[in-house]
Amino acid sequence: MQAELIAVGTELLLGHTIDTDSAYASRELAASGIDVLRRFTVGDNPARLEETLRLALSRSDLVVLIGGLGPTKDDLTKEIAARVCGKQLVMHEDSRRRIEEHFRGRVCGETQWKQAMLPEGCDVLPNDHGTAPGCVFRAENGCLVALLPGPPSECEPMIRDRLMPYLHRLGGGVIASLMVRTFGIGEGTAAERAEDFLNLVNPTVAPYAKDSEMFFRVTAKASSQEEAQKECRAVADRLCERLGSYVYAVNTDGTSQSCLENTVVELLAQRGLTVSAAESCTGGLIAKRLTDVPGASAVLNMSFVTYSNEAKHRLLGVPLEILDRYGAVSEQVARAMAEGVRRFSGSSVGVGVTGIAGPDGGTPEKPVGLVYLAVSDGEHTWVRRMNAPARFQSREKIRFRAASTALDMVRRLLCGLPMEEGPV
Ligand code: AMP
Ligand code: MG
Repeated sequence: MQAELIAVGTELLLGHTIDTDSAYASRELAASGIDVLRRFTVGDNPARLEETLRLALSRSDLVVLIGGLGPTKDDLTKEIAARVCGKQLVMHEDSRRRIEEHFRGRVCGETQWKQAMLPEGCDVLPNDHGTAPGCVFRAENGCLVALLPGPPSECEPMIRDRLMPYLHRLGGGVIASLMVRTFGIGEGTAAERAEDFLNLVNPTVAPYAKDSEMFFRVTAKASSQEEAQKECRAVADRLCERLGSYVYAVNTDGTSQSCLENTVVELLAQRGLTVSAAESCTGGLIAKRLTDVPGASAVLNMSFVTYSNEAKHRLLGVPLEILDRYGAVSEQVARAMAEGVRRFSGSSVGVGVTGIAGPDGGTPEKPVGLVYLAVSDGEHTWVRRMNAPARFQSREKIRFRAASTALDMVRRLLCGLPMEEGPV
């Protein structure tokens, strides 16, 4: 099957919004063995959208249009697509009801109903995260046309949970997928190690990189769900063997969002252990991410944000001599913070973080992006130095990556894995 994608929106054309939907769609389609041959971006302009759509229809099996399904005047995608494909727009009652429910108790303008007007005879892709439904229908020449909403929070789940299963059903099969989640392995190294997996046809393996993590989505197609799951599991297991201790979770959650905190909370809960962190640099992000997980209160009873030397000394017992001699951002202080917070809180594991998130405050010896992280179980304390080159990293990214590294160190401690992986 050959596909083309058309992203619609002037904001995309002018670079105000980055077209992440098309990238996501491309990856998903490719992972299912559909060849994406071309991608276009057009503004909210009827004539140019029509021209682009006609061209795509004339040479593809599938055209995916993204964006412009909303209630406002510049949302024209459906109208143009229906006209080009010779379809009327008709009210889809189910979608109308869903919109009504969505707005229950709030003012819902007349324009909202426009979103429930869909090409006659189409298959509707319900929107589980917003108001505008998507849909799939055939143009007169047999080409399949899919319309998807623009907001990534709606578009991505619709592709994953609605469009892909739909396309698989058309092809006479069902799919199952698993996400193999890794932290700490570079994108290049991961791709190298998993190279032969990336060429598999069924199951397919698609890499995703985000927030210093690498995810591999394994997708299998088979005639039954059990068979698809079995094939998926077999390949995921082999992939895990290849990637070793970098793998922190294998789950059915299809998002490319970090879930290191879920793994850490689960591991602590299983073992009946607790954790407390003393955070400089990450400013409470470790505690925030841990407490994002339901049930975190069983494994975290307190945590600290200690920025001044005085706080580090008074609350955590970091000796003033160490602060003076090595500076607040040092291996020694990270170590003393982890040990101090463990002692003070009575938790099983203490975490200490100190670093320079920038953009200011860096020196040649201690540049922006330098972070020391420590974990202590009372017997041993492990310290790692994280270097994030400033030119590639923002304050936000440095902090997120530091929190992830700390969480991964806790995971490694709990699983008895080496803190840093050497060549395998
Ligand atoms: P629309 O569906 O065109 O009304 O767009 C709704 C929202 O989704 C706007 O905030 C757009 O900036 C955003 N959006 C639209 N298309 C894309 C896309 N291809 N990638 C990422 N965001 C998009
Ligand atoms: Mg738009």
